[in-house]
Amino acid sequence: MTRPPILEPTADSISRAAQALRAGLLVGLPTETVYGLAGDATSDRAVAAIFAAKNRPEFNPLIAHVADAAAARLLVEFDGRAERLAQRFWPGALTLVLKRRADCPVSLLCSAGLDTLAVRCPAHDAARALLKAFGKPLAAPSANPSGQVSPTTARHVADGLGDKVALVIDGGPCAVGVESTVLDLTVAAPALLRPGGVPEEDLAAIVGPLTRPAEGDAIKSPGMLASHYAPRLPLRLDARDVKPDEALLAFGPDAPQGARMTLNLSARGNVVEAAQHLFDYLRRLDASGARAIAAMKLPERGLGRAINDRLRRAAAPR
Ligand code: AMP
Ligand code: MG
Repeated sequence: MTRPPILEPTADSISRAAQALRAGLLVGLPTETVYGLAGDATSDRAVAAIFAAKNRPEFNPLIAHVADAAAARLLVEFDGRAERLAQRFWPGALTLVLKRRADCPVSLLCSAGLDTLAVRCPAHDAARALLKAFGKPLAAPSANPSGQVSPTTARHVADGLGDKVALVIDGGPCAVGVESTVLDLTVAAPALLRPGGVPEEDLAAIVGPLTRPAEGDAIKSPGMLASHYAPRLPLRLDARDVKPDEALLAFGPDAPQGARMTLNLSARGNVVEAAQHLFDYLRRLDASGARAIAAMKLPERGLGRAINDRLRRAAAPR
């Protein structure tokens, strides 16, 4: 597999990336959550190329990334709740699902046939610079083959996608490290479709308690497949002990000893630090030569919820 150029974010590389996007090509985009596989959201051809490059099922819609709330208002029907949330959390790791405007210029493929669109304004300087230079929304799912572990460094992107991207902008390791929180605002009480970089507690403080999509409501969260974010090795949850042929994904000061390899997400038990390390450590343990990965449970608060969610999906039957 030919490797794409990995470029530091400079005025030059940003303009080269914008040019590639205008030509309908895809680029690796650093964001604060994970690296994105970005293409022109208004182009059917570019959006179709994203689905093809990731081998992503067509029923799983993409997030449209925008430079600011003003740009989002041109795409979707921004209501009072959206305004309050955007005011508080944008730019940041919060994705809002809203009704598409009748004149929404984003490709329908991006919505996977729904009359809604997911929008987010990312906080990473390089992402914001590229959105500004390109001048249009960018469709950008995580830059990895569908179902695999998300990328949190430029190298992860080049390793997973090769020359399916024209280039990768190297924005350093992702500061948040897990995907955005996805919130459905098309319903009376806001529904949490995916726990992520903005903790549920922080959202509830603004819009009240969040609901969950009803069991079996596949239409509401088409992308929430049980098995996802998966390493190659089988993964065992809630580990309190470890076997010598296992690799241990540890958390906190009391990790059990004796694994073939141990990586501690945060020895001091900090969930923010743990999220930053999650996907990189899963990749490294996956390559350790162990028979399986054992993962300790994180507390169900703050980013711990998003991490436990990803670990459950990584452990689900494939
Ligand atoms: P990814 O692009 O891999 O970060 O995943 C985006 C997530 O947002 C997936 O779980 C999608 O199912 C979800 N999503 C995107 N657009 C919509 C939409 N219009 N309605 C509901 N969920 C959406
Ligand atoms: Mg993804």
